[in-house]
Amino acid sequence: MKKISLLGATGSIGVQTTDVIRKHPQSFQLYALAFGRNVEKGMQLIQEFQPAIVVVQSEQVKDALLQHGYRGKIYTGIDGMYEIATHPDVDVVVNAVMGSVGLSSTLGAIEANKQVALANKETLVTAGHLVMDAAKKHNVSILPIDSEHSAIYQCLNGESKKEAHKIILTASGGSFRDKSREELAGVTVEDALNHPNWSMGAKITVDSATMMNKGLEVIEAHWLFDMPYDHIDVIQHRESVIHSMVEFVDKSVMAQLGTPDMRVPIQYALTYPKRLELNQTKELNLVDIGTLHFQEMSLERFPCLRLAYEAGRIGGTMTTVLNAANEQAVDLFLNGKISFLTIESFIERALESHHVIHTPNLETIQQVDEQTRALVKSYVN
Ligand code: NDP
Ligand code: MG
Repeated sequence: MKKISLLGATGSIGVQTTDVIRKHPQSFQLYALAFGRNVEKGMQLIQEFQPAIVVVQSEQVKDALLQHGYRGKIYTGIDGMYEIATHPDVDVVVNAVMGSVGLSSTLGAIEANKQVALANKETLVTAGHLVMDAAKKHNVSILPIDSEHSAIYQCLNGESKKEAHKIILTASGGSFRDKSREELAGVTVEDALNHPNWSMGAKITVDSATMMNKGLEVIEAHWLFDMPYDHIDVIQHRESVIHSMVEFVDKSVMAQLGTPDMRVPIQYALTYPKRLELNQTKELNLVDIGTLHFQEMSLERFPCLRLAYEAGRIGGTMTTVLNAANEQAVDLFLNGKISFLTIESFIERALESHHVIHTPNLETIQQVDEQTRALVKSYVN
């Protein structure tokens, strides 16, 4: 029985993680959970799973939970998440919060020798070297939940990394894959949130539409699999059936396929190296699908992908800026303050004005993150 600490329990990945836990009560126990502000969903999960500890974003949300009759142990904020990520009774930490706010908990979980199932890709983009150094030092495995990285992890199983020559990430293309650059000028928040293949949280759905999501994933792959940027390709694949591929030194290519259902990579991250049944997911029927399509990704059409490669190659605090500028710009877009195309121009401006610091420590990363958010907000006026 693995005791799980679930950060971001009320979100898209969080709720699908509870689905997996619910199906395997003999294997998993939801020991602690953290969420932001969704008291209704949070209360529902608390009543069902009876976690020993609950963490919420703020004192205000804590008061709301107490008013709803919660009487158990409760912590707040980033410190609270850190507490349940490092708790001695916990075996596995599932980090499914949105944004770089998840960083200190990821680091804490590694230092406390927990198994880490990571959906929170922003952690690796903002501070990949700190996370991977800590993982190596503490001999902790980071099991990716992101479907592409889970696919790569599955393809690499049992192979030495030296034999893997190239990673090929697939991209569905997001909500606006069939629109030209000109057509993007007038798109709305509602349009952006309408993803063709996956149902996800708001921020990552916008990231998929700008293609920044794939950019973040390139950086995530660089850190997780120790792969140079020149050996990470992205191709468009609209059906999202092949979740990613690995090319080996002998030109053999391995791919992982399946219907688009995040519960598969979530469960794999919890059960690795074993697999368990997952009855609720649909079988892949290639005959029904008939044809799979592949297309080159244009860095002109998707400048956010270009910016991510550029920032990744420079490294250091450049990817911290990339991530923080993106989080802030997407937030402004979702709140109706800026247009869709302004997201990429704000990110580019922030990157251009930054003087990189190589191998920054945690404090420097947190400072750069805060400064970048303030800078991007100031662009609005
Ligand atoms: P959601 O927005 O659906 O969920 C985010 C979760 O984090 C919610 O539970 C939210 O709480 C919580 N949260 C946000 N801020 C805080 C905070 N300051 N303190 C505590 N909790 C907080 O996001 P997703 O589930 O879509 O994505 C989560 C992560 O997984 C992201 O890093 C994303 O890139 C990654 N990912 C997601 C995929 C998907 O299919 N959704 C696929 C691959 C990766 P509340 O809602 O209660 O405020
Ligand atoms: Mg992904």
